[in-house]
Amino acid sequence: MFSQFLSRVVIITSLIAPISCAALLGNNKSSEDSSSSLLSLLLLASAGSRSGNTAPVFSFSEGSLTPTSAIANYYGTGLTGYSANLTTSSVGPSNPTLIVQAEQNHAVASTYVDFQQSISGFFLTRNVSGSTSNQVGSMMHFYGRSPVNYTWNGSAGDSTPNPAATQNLTVAVIAPSNALSLTYRIVRSGIAATSEESSFTADSSTANFALRGMSKSWGSEKKLNVNLIFVSGCNPSGSESGISTAIDRMKTLYTQQTVRIRPVITSTTVSLAAAYLTLTSSAQNSTAVGSLGGLLAATASAQRTDALNIIFIKNETIGGLLGMSSGIVGIPGKAGTRSSGMVVVFDTHLGTPGTAPNSSEQQLLGETMAHEGGHWLGLWHTVETNYGSSQNIWNRDAISETPFCQQTPVNLTNCDFTASNNSGARNVMFPAGQTGFNQPDLTGEQGWVLRRHPLVY
Ligand SMILES: [Zn+2]
Repeated sequence: MFSQFLSRVVIITSLIAPISCAALLGNNKSSEDSSSSLLSLLLLASAGSRSGNTAPVFSFSEGSLTPTSAIANYYGTGLTGYSANLTTSSVGPSNPTLIVQAEQNHAVASTYVDFQQSISGFFLTRNVSGSTSNQVGSMMHFYGRSPVNYTWNGSAGDSTPNPAATQNLTVAVIAPSNALSLTYRIVRSGIAATSEESSFTADSSTANFALRGMSKSWGSEKKLNVNLIFVSGCNPSGSESGISTAIDRMKTLYTQQTVRIRPVITSTTVSLAAAYLTLTSSAQNSTAVGSLGGLLAATASAQRTDALNIIFIKNETIGGLLGMSSGIVGIPGKAGTRSSGMVVVFDTHLGTPGTAPNSSEQQLLGETMAHEGGHWLGLWHTVETNYGSSQNIWNRDAISETPFCQQTPVNLTNCDFTASNNSGARNVMFPAGQTGFNQPDLTGEQGWVLRRHPLVY
């Protein structure tokens, strides 16, 4: 079983089971201090000027500690969580976004690495991921204002935040073992939000939900480094020039007016043992050949620490998998971690596996690149495929403009209309895709999330 939240599947598959993911949003349980022994380093990810925005600017630090403060029944009856506070830098106008990722190699079933923050508000994006034991977690915290689930710099519900204020943020990591240390990483953006981003409010009035949020036009264009890593043998067209139509499709999706982020592409090819061409496990806690973690480790030397790393392989055995991100959100600043990139699978996009993709297959390939890239940069699926029956808040994204299709099942056919409960299939972050079914939409609010990622400059 793996987290469907991380992946994109072809429409014909229904093999993906949901993970249990309690208390996704608005979790305000208190946490207690715990002693920590940490090894921390700090580096600036770019020599570029903060004002010039010629490259991403962010700080990266990592360390380890052992969580000790017990929270009884945190993961369910008899399943104790152990908490440790991370001292994080403040977020504010100059440093508007914070990402925290943590790993613990525990073996406790039905648990995960989790986070809590000590100020009022919500995590806009947070992820528990991994395979059987959910050993990797990540979250992204924004400074800003929004009518819904972003961060206020006053108390929750404050509708008139002061944009000059700074929030002192404490993040607690919760993990199921107090006998094992955990590794954590913290990334803080170093480029101030634009005034337009600071004052952004979501569209709540467009009657046609398929168009809601689509009229936003950002006044400035930003950039994002995108590093394509082709594992040798992935496809006859496995090169930057070979998938130019797919790259153009991703650029079209990210540069549209609601987002206005221009991908700056680099590419490389790596030669690995042939077994790396097939993804057989979504496990991030493994370095085994065929696992997601193994692929991320094996391609470390080709990864860039200042880019979205997209790794292209040939096929998979998980079941209809078009692509997979190593987190919602991933972690920039260090190569080879369990959250250092995303995977795209060639054969799943092809009518005939092993052949060069035709034009429509490249369109789908480009949409998968944008979709998994969206996950890695912090976007959830608009809805999960089981939202129609459950309508649980943790089975949809935390933003307000994207429609939440409530049909059963949630699929391209049932969700391609205009009402709040039957639209959204054309969104890039819809959980399924299909050759010939264009999915061009990202809303202004989704653009807001993407534009706030520390890699975007
Ligand atoms: Zn997905």
